[in-house]
Amino acid sequence: MCGIVGYVGHRDAYPIILEGLKRLEYRGYDSAGIAMFDGTNLKVSKTKGKVLDLENKSTQENNINGTIGIGHTRWATHGVPNDVNSHPHYSNSGDLVIIHNGIIENYESLKKELLKRGYTFNSDTDTEVLINLIEDVKKNEGVKLGKAVQIALNQVVGAYAIAVFDKNKPDEIVVARLGSPLAIGIGEDEFFIASDASPFLEYTKNAIYLEDEEMAIVRRHKDVKIRKIKDDSLVDLYIQELQINLEQIEKGGYDHFMLKEIYEQPNAIKDTYRGRLLVNEAIIKMAGVEDNMKKFLNADRIIVVACGTSWHAGLVSEYIFEDLARIPVEVEYASEFRYRNPIITEKDVVIAISQSGETADTLAAIKLAKSKGAFVFGVCNVVGSSIARETDAGAYTHAGPEIGVASTKAFTTQITVLTLIALRLARAKGTISSSDFRRHLLELEMIPGKVEEALKSDSHIKMIADIYKDAKNFLYLGRGYNFPVALEGALKLKEISYIHAEGYPAAEMKHGPIALIDEQMPVVVIATKKGHYDKVVSNIQEIKSRKGKIIGIVTQGDKSVKDLADYVIEVPETLESLTPLLTTIPLQLLSYHIAVMLDKNVDQPRNLAKSVTVE
Ligand code: GLU
Repeated sequence: MCGIVGYVGHRDAYPIILEGLKRLEYRGYDSAGIAMFDGTNLKVSKTKGKVLDLENKSTQENNINGTIGIGHTRWATHGVPNDVNSHPHYSNSGDLVIIHNGIIENYESLKKELLKRGYTFNSDTDTEVLINLIEDVKKNEGVKLGKAVQIALNQVVGAYAIAVFDKNKPDEIVVARLGSPLAIGIGEDEFFIASDASPFLEYTKNAIYLEDEEMAIVRRHKDVKIRKIKDDSLVDLYIQELQINLEQIEKGGYDHFMLKEIYEQPNAIKDTYRGRLLVNEAIIKMAGVEDNMKKFLNADRIIVVACGTSWHAGLVSEYIFEDLARIPVEVEYASEFRYRNPIITEKDVVIAISQSGETADTLAAIKLAKSKGAFVFGVCNVVGSSIARETDAGAYTHAGPEIGVASTKAFTTQITVLTLIALRLARAKGTISSSDFRRHLLELEMIPGKVEEALKSDSHIKMIADIYKDAKNFLYLGRGYNFPVALEGALKLKEISYIHAEGYPAAEMKHGPIALIDEQMPVVVIATKKGHYDKVVSNIQEIKSRKGKIIGIVTQGDKSVKDLADYVIEVPETLESLTPLLTTIPLQLLSYHIAVMLDKNVDQPRNLAKSVTVE
């Protein structure tokens, strides 16, 4: 999920790779490493920490040089960030090295097989399994490296961008991609490999972007050929002439990280359920839940502790857990919980949610809950973070690094993880029928495609943003599952545009906020078909009769709200419990466009920090 760089040619590869890794730093990472062949030896240097730490370590350790090499920045998914888990990884013979971005879903079963065959593993990573699988294929089938990589990848389920080389054939690097980006820079008798073109922009403007399920062998003095991993068929080369600058590349062509992250959500959600949601087998597999099933099933209640956007994800989970698994849930601000002498017993399960895994108040709440004997389960994005270490068990969101301060993909992936847990528990408790369970799995699997569909309203939302950007206040209304989404929509607007906004349960309007409504007041109402639709339509009537401006978030094809609202934004239909994953998208885009139009610093709003490590 982070960065890879490689070089084979006639120059000293070390400075190219190191500088390249620095260019990829914007992607966020926890460790870095490099492997080079100097004509005699294959040398690997790697460390937890920053590229600067790698630079210090590698220059001290050994005189790394050579004209072929690969480098990596890691965003841990399997195994905590430490020196051993950092990439590159060797195969058992010490001949092959690999760098990998992504997740090998079926690494456990592959590892079991390899262990039986006598392979040993130093790290906890899925990646080390892959390099040994490649070695095993190479030996057993007596094939060259390229073929071995191909055969091995055909046994792999998951997502990857990889670069592999063999110290006995130090003229070539084999690369492949499925789900994670990989670009090849083509110079004069030299090749560059990288997650994006930024590491090689000053050397060449000619690049090939590998498509999913493609692989290539880049070889000194040879032309590159691209093949399909599945059937070995050759792919027509499409060499692009790059006309973009560094900053544009870092943001993946988007103007801001926030927008990039909004658009990453279909993939981020897929990465979250990857290997966990097994639709064909009709099961959900989550080790942290499975290993502690008794605790969950015996729980009197679940207490969710979190802050900010994570707290909103927690509120969504209250609806899901209670609705599907019939477990009572309380959702607490960690900062309040920790100081108010709460009643916690050994029969409570506490779920702590935090993107960074470093939120100070959430950490303190965890410690308090543990001291009272509760079982504490963490949901965070950063592997090996303090919360991941402090909790008894947990599940990572695997959303990849989030750089924009206003959280977007962290929110939807937290909801995805919490939904998976709730469904798993519902199945175990028998509170959901097998057909309903299956329907949920099928629908959840379709969510990334539907998010993609929801993103298509972007230009329509931009037009709406232009109309209301000068409003001084906004109201966001929703009911049921979409009440927390209304809160989150209002928070997004406040965070990045500095416009005052409030989220309310739609029915509460009569108890106060309705007094605010006049012809100046835009009211964003989430009114999807499922879930109290008629009631929400009545609420919209009430706003309308007080001349409020209505922006409705509706299900595709909706008629009633369309007739009443000033504008509607459509999202695809899904199960009620999954609507938050779709209705959130237009609200993120609305706040984004308003903030850009008001010329605000979208990625680093004033007074806010990405990870709140102070109370
Ligand atoms: N799954 C691999 C690991 O945890 C790769 C992570 C990455 O994309 O950086 O080491």
